[in-house]
Amino acid sequence: MLATDAPDETPLIDPNAIPPNFRSGLVSLVGLSNVGKSTLLNQILGTKVAIVSPKPQTTRTRITGVLTRDDGQIVFIDTPGIHQPKFELNRRMTQIAIQSLREIDLVCWVIDVIREADLPSPMMLELLKEIEKSTPIILVINKIDKIKKIDLLPVIDRYRYLLDFKEIVPVSALRGTNVPQLVDAIIQYLPEGPPLYPPGQITDMSDEFMISELIREKIFRILRQEVPYCTAVQIRAMDVQKEKNLLVVYADIWVEKTSQKGILIGKGGRMIKQIGTLARKEIEALLGVRVY
Ligand code: GDP
Ligand code: MG
Repeated sequence: MLATDAPDETPLIDPNAIPPNFRSGLVSLVGLSNVGKSTLLNQILGTKVAIVSPKPQTTRTRITGVLTRDDGQIVFIDTPGIHQPKFELNRRMTQIAIQSLREIDLVCWVIDVIREADLPSPMMLELLKEIEKSTPIILVINKIDKIKKIDLLPVIDRYRYLLDFKEIVPVSALRGTNVPQLVDAIIQYLPEGPPLYPPGQITDMSDEFMISELIREKIFRILRQEVPYCTAVQIRAMDVQKEKNLLVVYADIWVEKTSQKGILIGKGGRMIKQIGTLARKEIEALLGVRVY
């Protein structure tokens, strides 16, 4: 974390302070690209930690978010390897996917109520059949804000017997509908045990990583098709000015072609300024310091 935070050497979890029946565990949100996994994670944690975008495959790194309540702690692991249904997975890839879910205590399978109303991807189902042998699965039907209530029931009926779901929870990750109920359900199916992370920790990603992802997200939001997806943001330096409660961030944006440089900077630097302004607001909200 930031150097403004006093280094805390004392153990943050007092074993005597853990309530009885406390539950904790690793939870993975799996599902096709664009079903709303990042949106859901952000909604649950109330802070942006995963990059959200209308284009698939933007979560490039495995992101851990931690939610701590009085009765339990959920450690979220985003597993980008479990997306892609374009081709049938060969046995080795299936094995790798299953392997990565081996230490997971619970899997939330997120589907898009519109796109997957009729049938899940066969590959996803095949994978989940393997997973359910050792791990409880909750079915999360997302984007219910896009349909009428009456159209939800047939979807539930179609999915109900595909796997042995512990729960089926319809949600709108975007609006937050039913998200608290989902959190309740998740905690209920975690094993009893002490917290795995000190309470208060939202993610184990570095501030640097989160800042670079926030900037990257703004670039895509503002420029959409005009810059390629491989655009990268690198944090060159971060200068903490404690007395001013100010964090100065120096970031480099890398593009593929010189022509894209002009687009990114914009007329009189307008574009780059807008990116900076938007990113700064979110970084400030995330870290609770002023940002330049
Ligand atoms: P991921 O690829 O599964 O992580 O999906 P994202 O979280 O990046 O979401 C993909 C797109 O779906 C974004 O444009 C989101 O705004 C949108 N989305 C996510 N959840 C909902 C929802 O509950 N309702 C609606 N209408 N859109 C959603
Ligand atoms: Mg995502």
